[in-house]
Amino acid sequence: MNAPREPGVQTPILDLAADFPILSRPVHGRRLAYLDNGATTQKPAAVIEAEARFYRESNANIHRGVHWLSQHATELYDGARATVQRFLNAARADEIVFTRGTTEAINLVAQSWGRPRLAAGDEILLSTMEHHSNIVPWQLVCEQTGAVLKVIPVQDNGELDMAAFEGLLGERTRLLAITHVSNALGTVNPVAEMTRRAHAVGAVVLVDGAQAVAHQAVDVQAIGCDFYAFSGHKLYGPTGIGALYGRAELLRHMPPWQGGGDMIRTVAFDNTTFAPPPQRFEAGTPNIAGAIALAAAIDYVQAVGLARIHAHEQALLDYGTRALQDIPGVRLVGTAQDRAGILSFLVDGIHPHDLGTILDAEGVAIRAGHHCAMPLMTRFGIPGTARASLGLYNGLADLDALVAAIHKAQALFGTRGGTAPCTGRAA
Ligand code: PMP
Repeated sequence: MNAPREPGVQTPILDLAADFPILSRPVHGRRLAYLDNGATTQKPAAVIEAEARFYRESNANIHRGVHWLSQHATELYDGARATVQRFLNAARADEIVFTRGTTEAINLVAQSWGRPRLAAGDEILLSTMEHHSNIVPWQLVCEQTGAVLKVIPVQDNGELDMAAFEGLLGERTRLLAITHVSNALGTVNPVAEMTRRAHAVGAVVLVDGAQAVAHQAVDVQAIGCDFYAFSGHKLYGPTGIGALYGRAELLRHMPPWQGGGDMIRTVAFDNTTFAPPPQRFEAGTPNIAGAIALAAAIDYVQAVGLARIHAHEQALLDYGTRALQDIPGVRLVGTAQDRAGILSFLVDGIHPHDLGTILDAEGVAIRAGHHCAMPLMTRFGIPGTARASLGLYNGLADLDALVAAIHKAQALFGTRGGTAPCTGRAA
């Protein structure tokens, strides 16, 4: 059971590890402290069971069959779409397009919204802290159209430079593509405010929600954005499924980006017409079981309650931040006021990859490296960081295991009691 260990630290309130079968398996003979939730989350039995149940009881292709099973599978798939709609508070179910995940959702917008509309000199505004999947699709579309990227800088504490953002917005800005939560630093960006500013200059706004949806309630209508992308596997759901929210008004005017079955109205060699959204963007047999299991993950998260998950993880974040700051030679990278679930840090004299390997031997799973955010690492002048990222099943014991393993690594490297005080400032 979780219990507060230090005065002033809030108490974590959830104790749900038992719902996640994998968490009871030892790793290297140790109790597993799984702190790599930013990469992917573990799955509760309810999600594993929902996917298995689909194949056991309901499997058929959708939107095609006249037979009962096909109609049943179609109902489940459409029901999953309605679950995602409610989860994001989208106004309509046809504003939800199922994709393979965040990456595919962003590529869809780049190719279907961006490519036909952007022209030489048009500007796409993004930030230094974007994941590669919210950079490279835009670079590709820039090559195809002559549009150019503009980049909002990041301050030393890991927050966006909002004055610079204001200065970069202009009449050539056609799109703001911004992450809701930084996967490398945990910074929560003020996406509603940024959307308002971007709309004021007539730009369209895409929010990358990959690192947000599991940690706080998201309301796309309150944010006001035009597109919102997320991945199921970071939300306790399966891999290979995610969703794009797109405002109906925009989706309606976007051409298909992949052709095939299920996305057409009629096909003839001299003229093919397309289905309305969202089918227009879902060519071929989709990940039916994945969509249904994603809906089960959303049901699970909502039953726990995102407000409680947020409070729990904030308490862990507080505890972890203090604990890491108390270790001489450990330096946090990213100390934004508003952070979600991520502790990114460096240990003097130990390369993040070596640290990750030593921690792994202690049963502590973290990520080490550039976190697919190389421009951000360049900004901070570092090759990478060690990153502990939190999920709803983590407890203080996981953070205690992390701290103990860091001490062990320092002892092994002879760097215990290193010199750099924790300033929270980047190198
Ligand atoms: N954006 C962010 C902020 C992410 O953290 C990730 C995954 N690490 C992605 C996009 C890409 O997600 P996926 O690989 O699931 O498509």
